[in-house]
Amino acid sequence: MAQHRVLVTGASRGIGRAVAMRLAHDGYAIAGCYSKEGGAARRTACELQEQAKVSYLAACDVSDTDAVERFVKIAEEKIGPIDLLVNNAGITRDQPLVLSQAEDWNAVVATNLTGAWNFCRALTFRFMKNRSGSIVNLSSVAGVYGNAGQTAYAASKAGIIGLSKSLAKEVAGYGIRVNVVAPGFIDTDMTGALSGKTREKALSQIPLRRYGQPEEVADLVAFLLSERASYITGQVFQVDGGITL
Ligand code: NAP
Repeated sequence: MAQHRVLVTGASRGIGRAVAMRLAHDGYAIAGCYSKEGGAARRTACELQEQAKVSYLAACDVSDTDAVERFVKIAEEKIGPIDLLVNNAGITRDQPLVLSQAEDWNAVVATNLTGAWNFCRALTFRFMKNRSGSIVNLSSVAGVYGNAGQTAYAASKAGIIGLSKSLAKEVAGYGIRVNVVAPGFIDTDMTGALSGKTREKALSQIPLRRYGQPEEVADLVAFLLSERASYITGQVFQVDGGITL
């Protein structure tokens, strides 16, 4: 079987890192990006080199359309033609709308939504030429149900769902699938930054009585990318411990 080559955005930490490590373990060649040089990126790059047959991890701001085009070109030179994409990079700037600033809205939408569009735009035509490909985009339960204090974040994550469902319809005829994973509270730096009070309140609302682990999200992403999910496209899957029941 031909080796799959996957590009994962936001691969230095959290869910993206778990996805990259899981797919490396499954034998995929991995390209990943992050935004800040530093310890997390270095550690993940080292671990990926040990785990994956071929890997390439480098900085690329997902919100910068030209930088994304350049990154995809270099990534393909390093690991070969990419056939799978995981748009995972994301940020929060949580504030009630009346207290938030335009720069917060712009940063969140640029990273979470434009970032995903940039990578879909850079890779979909290649996937169409190959008449195969699979894309998983990370949304959030906030994008499905809304969340007070997260208007920008929830809007960007709802946008991910609209983008994914529309693209799924556009490219299904080319054998390309596009799906969405919408996590609830997952134990990463993103939720680590929440106040103790917010974390406790969230915990009390989760029927499974714990936060999810990044690996539990990575399992679903790996399934959706794989041929085991060959009849699934345009769908949104929640990994949320039942918080939205
Ligand atoms: P995280 O731990 O904060 O990691 C975010 C990752 O995205 C890091 O690798 C970061 O790189 C990268 N990133 C941020 N801005 C970027 C940019 N402009 N360009 C390139 N890379 C960028 O986040 P996480 O919790 O793993 O979340 C991953 C995804 O799942 C996000 O889309 C998030 O919205 C979604 N999600 C998470 C939860 C949760 O509970 N954790 C819940 C629902 C949805 P650096 O290391 O360089 O900063």
